[in-house]
Amino acid sequence: MGRCMYTSVDSLIVDGDQWAEDVADPSTHSRWTEISTTRIHGRLSSDTIMWCANLKGVFPLKLEWDSIRARRDPVAWYKLVWFPYSQTRFSFIVWLAIVGRFTTKSRLAAWGLATDTTCPLCNTGNEDLNHLFFKSPFSNHIWQRVLLLNGFALPALLSWPNVVQWTTNHFTGDSLLNKVRRFSFSVMVYRIWSERNSRIFKQQESSFEKVLCQIIGDTRGRFSGSVAVAPDSSATRDFFHRWRIKVQFTLQRPSFHSWLRPPSNCMAINCDGSVMDGRGGYGAMACDRMGRVIFAIAGGFRDTNIMRMELEAIRCGLRRANSLGCPRIHVQSDSLCAIQMIKGSFHTPWHCLELLEDILCLKEKFSCCTFAHVAREANFCADFLASFLHSDQEILLSTNCLPPALACLVGEDARGRRYQRL
Ligand SMILES: [Zn+2]
Repeated sequence: MGRCMYTSVDSLIVDGDQWAEDVADPSTHSRWTEISTTRIHGRLSSDTIMWCANLKGVFPLKLEWDSIRARRDPVAWYKLVWFPYSQTRFSFIVWLAIVGRFTTKSRLAAWGLATDTTCPLCNTGNEDLNHLFFKSPFSNHIWQRVLLLNGFALPALLSWPNVVQWTTNHFTGDSLLNKVRRFSFSVMVYRIWSERNSRIFKQQESSFEKVLCQIIGDTRGRFSGSVAVAPDSSATRDFFHRWRIKVQFTLQRPSFHSWLRPPSNCMAINCDGSVMDGRGGYGAMACDRMGRVIFAIAGGFRDTNIMRMELEAIRCGLRRANSLGCPRIHVQSDSLCAIQMIKGSFHTPWHCLELLEDILCLKEKFSCCTFAHVAREANFCADFLASFLHSDQEILLSTNCLPPALACLVGEDARGRRYQRL
């Protein structure tokens, strides 16, 4: 921008905080009103080149890919194919099978390229996807055994799409157990298709037992070597015992969180931002040590940047506390990034600079102003306020007449209720 292509922003600023009055370059001139009404931040002493693509000021390849591709809704079965622990060679074959890209004999016959459509696995049925997975006695037998290892009896499924649907419903989930199930499914499809190819192109046959052994071996090898943590229960122990996969079991201990009382003679301000249905919101609630509400603010915004909403919540809380003349405040937010930006340990993106600067200025107006990151469970009241408004405004709620749901949360916080996080 500027007088020539390489003019820096810094050179357009005079006296440290004023925009230059005259800009000769016509391309800049057309946008000069917009530029010159932008507030100059005192801390900007020199220009830096920054990608404005994401919050950290970097432009990952993923964003470039997203900008050129056509986005569609994710298909229900994608987690059956791609997941942590999946292996590309197996996943790719399952993907081909699911999208119907296998060149089965029936498909070749439909194109006029084959006359014999006999299944090489059983030498009886017509080889198509439904037959291979899993009507053919050979593959049906394997499917049945793999299901048993995974803790399921053989379901009555009529076609390959039904199998995909059933497996998607029963094998998807984030537990290690479900990852083993999905992995074994992908290996099974791969091994059966390989056996079919081997019989057709190499005239080599393996028994059903041998193919099953390969599937079990691949699955066991994939999971036994890794440090996998699984919740301990008799059902999971049985599962891994059947597969003979060694995993480390841990007891999942829940953690408990409650609203954190400020020190005496100090006020706690809990802040939160939210983005929902294309709208932003923010909320700030101040309480004394006993949990009595001093003020509660809810704001709505035509902004969908969550980081700005988190900072907006803190700014509005500080403003209100300052106008009330509170000397000592303790700000709590469940946004670690926001707290780290204020403390200077997280790079502040350009679109948050103005908010951050206001917050740092306001901070100086208190005799004591501290900031802390807290668990979401310790911030439920602010969370409520951040989603309270659906219009572009900011309101100060009456502390005597809070919405019943919020009053209930305030009461729980004051009593020191512990919320469990699993
Ligand atoms: Zn067959």
